[in-house]
Amino acid sequence: MKVLLSRDEIQARVREMGQQITRDYAGREPHLVCVLKGGCTFLTDLAREIDLPLSLDYMAVSSYGAATKSSGEVRMLKDLDQSLEGRDVLIVEDIVDTGLTLNYLLNLLRTRGPRSMKVASLLSKPSRRLVEIPVDYVGFTIDDLFVVGYGLDYNEKFRNLPHIAVYGA
Ligand code: 5GP
Repeated sequence: MKVLLSRDEIQARVREMGQQITRDYAGREPHLVCVLKGGCTFLTDLAREIDLPLSLDYMAVSSYGAATKSSGEVRMLKDLDQSLEGRDVLIVEDIVDTGLTLNYLLNLLRTRGPRSMKVASLLSKPSRRLVEIPVDYVGFTIDDLFVVGYGLDYNEKFRNLPHIAVYGA
């Protein structure tokens, strides 16, 4: 498969994002909310590049399943363990495609009283957007390609690739 983003490119960009978040959240304690499973690899690398006290929590929502096209349906599979009340929440996503998943999450999590809520996504495909949502930190903007690796799967495979590749290419 064709490599779209190498391990080194990802590492350098994740470091920059971590530094930016460290500056933006200076004096505060961000609460990182990871969207499983795809966002997990990014989260563990990003969290280690943030030089602040922070906390982590995990949630899972349904995504594509076996197909490569979004159904638009979002289902909660695992909720957060901790309350968001008064916290500076940073949602950590692998990729924002149509934006439907993130739109659902933002609406849901806003009802839980966070002090602030921002989004960090490693990848964004703006040409596929169906709902306009703010993505505060974007690693890379990519074309309308189906990508795998660095946490992203096709049928649960390829999550362990250290780079990001174009599926089928
Ligand atoms: P959205 O709701 O923004 O359309 O899609 C978000 C979810 O769809 C992502 O969290 C991810 O799980 C999945 N997704 C979207 N595009 C891709 C892609 O190119 N590759 C993979 N592996 N998953 C994708």
